[in-house]
Amino acid sequence: MKPYRLASREDKDTIIEVHSGEGTCSIGEGYCTIIAGPCAVESEESILTSARLVKKLGAHILRGGAFKPRTSPYSFPGLGVEGLRYLASARKETGLPIVTEVLDVRDVDRVLEIADIVQVGSRNMQNFPLLRELSHQRVPVLLKRGFAATVEEWLLAAEYLMSGGNRQVILCERGIRTFENSTRNTVDLGVVPLIKELSHLPVVVDPSHATGKWQLVRPIAKAAIAAGADGLMIEVHHHPETALSDGKQSLTGANFARLMEEVKSIAHLEGKII
Ligand code: PEP
Ligand code: MN
Repeated sequence: MKPYRLASREDKDTIIEVHSGEGTCSIGEGYCTIIAGPCAVESEESILTSARLVKKLGAHILRGGAFKPRTSPYSFPGLGVEGLRYLASARKETGLPIVTEVLDVRDVDRVLEIADIVQVGSRNMQNFPLLRELSHQRVPVLLKRGFAATVEEWLLAAEYLMSGGNRQVILCERGIRTFENSTRNTVDLGVVPLIKELSHLPVVVDPSHATGKWQLVRPIAKAAIAAGADGLMIEVHHHPETALSDGKQSLTGANFARLMEEVKSIAHLEGKII
């Protein structure tokens, strides 16, 4: 028997349903769900601009960090609770469901007040108290792969979330750290079909953090869907040069529009609903 019992393939495919002003959005086998938005919520105006933009171009879910895990203590840490309020207004105006990161167990209640999906970031994949807390909640969790985590460790982190009763886990590949430093991380697309073999959970790919370069995002996004991913998480900013975080990997509206067009044809080829 596999060490991850609840996350293992033995169950039937999990389809996660998120309800919003727009109706129901499904994530899992047979769907190609696009999550898009800026790295961080920077102001009310900017998240509204991004939300309108990604909605117009066909995204299903809005992303935006209010609590940001920054490597340097001097980098923009996010707007915190104020950022959550701005996300709530973006949801109200556009009807797009929201995914946002929770960094700290102490913030779980506040984040859950507005998040339709809560994100556990790469750096927190093995924050076991946080996983345990979320395991008792009834909110879908987007679990990013730790940048140095094996597939087994990642699935065991999913198992933590499921072991308290929360069965709504979405796995997100976002690149791993290797000797290669010409890209921010090394994209591991082989895990997509592998996860499909090992687990019933949905798996999406984040080509933005995986590559760190906007020029690589569209090709890797297409490859991810062709490899069988159930969706994508894409960083989009209306003006990447001025972004307070991750501008170099953020797509402009025009580039995101092109990505959507090309991803749509691949999703159709794969028989996925987009
Ligand atoms: C993010 O998606 O905002 C993020 C910080 O990504 P990761 O945890 O994959 O680095
Ligand atoms: Mn980012």
